[in-house]
Amino acid sequence: MQNLSRRDFIKSASVAAALGTVVAKGAGQATPAPSPLTLTHTSGPTRLTADFAGKWPRLLASESDIAAVRARLSRLPSAFTRMIPPDDALGIAQDESTFSAFKPNGELAGYEILHAAWLALLHRVTRKPSYLQAARRFLPAILEMRDTSVVIEAGRSNGDLMIGHWLLGVSLYHDWLHDQLSSDEAQGVRTAITAQARAVYHHFNTRHSGWSYEQNHVFIPAAGLGVAGFALSGTEAEADDWISCATTFMRRSGDALCADGLFYEGVSYFNYAFHWHVIFAAVQRRLTGKDWFGGQPFVGVEDFVLHHTLPGGDFAFDFADWGPRKGQPGYEKPWHSVPTRWSVWSLLGLRRFRGPNPTLNASLRQLLGRDYSLQRVGIFHLLWSCEDLLASPAKVETPAPAYHHFTDHDVLVWRENWSDKNATALWLKCGPPEGHRATDLRRERPEWKPNAGHAHPDAGHFTIWSRGRFLAGDTGYTAIKRTRDHNCLLIADDGQFRDGRYHAFDGVDFAVLNDIRLREVSASARGVSATCVLAPAYDSVHTMNSLERRVSLNDASQLFVHDRWTSRAAKELTWLWHTDEKPESLDATRWLIRNGPASMVLIVLTPFASITVEAAMVPAYTGTPDRNPDWRQRGWRIVLTTTPATSGEIVVAGVLNPARPAEVKAAYANGNVSFLL
Ligand SMILES: [Zn+2]
Repeated sequence: MQNLSRRDFIKSASVAAALGTVVAKGAGQATPAPSPLTLTHTSGPTRLTADFAGKWPRLLASESDIAAVRARLSRLPSAFTRMIPPDDALGIAQDESTFSAFKPNGELAGYEILHAAWLALLHRVTRKPSYLQAARRFLPAILEMRDTSVVIEAGRSNGDLMIGHWLLGVSLYHDWLHDQLSSDEAQGVRTAITAQARAVYHHFNTRHSGWSYEQNHVFIPAAGLGVAGFALSGTEAEADDWISCATTFMRRSGDALCADGLFYEGVSYFNYAFHWHVIFAAVQRRLTGKDWFGGQPFVGVEDFVLHHTLPGGDFAFDFADWGPRKGQPGYEKPWHSVPTRWSVWSLLGLRRFRGPNPTLNASLRQLLGRDYSLQRVGIFHLLWSCEDLLASPAKVETPAPAYHHFTDHDVLVWRENWSDKNATALWLKCGPPEGHRATDLRRERPEWKPNAGHAHPDAGHFTIWSRGRFLAGDTGYTAIKRTRDHNCLLIADDGQFRDGRYHAFDGVDFAVLNDIRLREVSASARGVSATCVLAPAYDSVHTMNSLERRVSLNDASQLFVHDRWTSRAAKELTWLWHTDEKPESLDATRWLIRNGPASMVLIVLTPFASITVEAAMVPAYTGTPDRNPDWRQRGWRIVLTTTPATSGEIVVAGVLNPARPAEVKAAYANGNVSFLL
């Protein structure tokens, strides 16, 4: 999603996992899931370090922290207004649609409630009556929730996501406003929190079909439950059980994510979901002293943000469910024309609780100067501020090197340099959707039923960015995940795993996925290369003995993609390359790709049966998995097909931004490509 605010953001919530339908193929994976009741208490009681009974604020800030924020604001008002125009908050509260329809069971709840907490914090910090007045407008809708409780139908609605947001927002609202409400009102808010937390606790204690720990459908409601528990501990008898339950699920979810820092669902869902881990860990750290920030899923996340933000800063590598889905801003715009904005909440929290480091600072500097109107809730900016970075924006720290191998997910990223907005960058992926570590972890946790949410069946896929445009691209958020929508190979017209479903990895054996990997990775300032081990990504019916792709890029100008296969039966391979603009044929074996100021000549150096260019029609996501996709054109694709054979190779060379495209030639002999420019 591009826009982190308002209703469209809510609609962007990922669609629930279809749980309970997983049949793993591998031996040893049929162990019945243990009862979540036994899981719930494995982390033991979570003791608060002080007696907080009847004392607020406590969750993200004490009264003295609030005083410190107040002092900082009066010292540095410009840093504050630059990050979050406070009048914006009032504007939101005057907009009837903001709160008139928030019901946690409906699609419209969720993010909206954080505005209530934001206004409550603004009032606590500034003591301006206008903020209190605005915050109070949310009260009737909050109190309505005393007598009803959320219905969570896992896999059928987004009630789990909505109530997670609601619990966080209302717990913070209460934390900052409790002494500004009448005692009946404050008690009413606590009663409403209790009613919803009970429902979520019940959900986590009664489901027996397993849990997708990697899914935001688990960790968003779990984090909300935990924050509610911390809010009411000492006041509400059940609150410590909520904390214990939430801690168990958050720990297990955290263990399933970001082993190397990479967030497997991609940039858009990082923005939507990752900060839930940061917020829960921050509250836990304050109130219990238990500190998770030194471990998974937090370590290396700044590498993910830094390396996935493309040169120029307005876009990010398009992978997994990237970009708007139907109904979100930019969905109708030409493909790859809507800039990617990052949520900086997580990085602000990491910097505050784990301490700064050059990569984290560089990622934040890269993002902080960008458009903030997209993040109209300023809670985390204000509390976890980094005005020191904003105060001296001139010097951009650029940590070397300009490449990174995310070894657990086997994603390789490289860029020409950190300084030039026109620099070329390459992204190459060939790993299990949730990383290699997931295979071992899956054995330890039989109740974990991963389905790899928004991941795509795209082993061997690469993207190339140059002069501010994609030259080899991806096709964004799709309803049905298909290998053919990527710069990948098809075997006998067939994609990887069980593609053609919303959850392409649901029920796929993680031990098999683990064999998909990058080999012979090398990267330097001059270039990058790696070999993709691809055979395990395809169904055994295709009898591949081996299938490998070697990708190298030298001097940001010469690309080489070399695919080789051997199989027990003759197979036809299809080779795909996606572009934003229609490629032009220069002759039978050469294609010119242009995109704005960027260009590239592709030369096919091995024999093929056919080569065509077609509109890249993809099943775009409408909000309903597996059904009624909205077929849309997202650029173009070059489709090259070989003749069927039991072994063969496809060699394609490319030259980036050539001065005279028509004159670019290349030759292939004895495994070597020579360019004749
Ligand atoms: Zn993709």
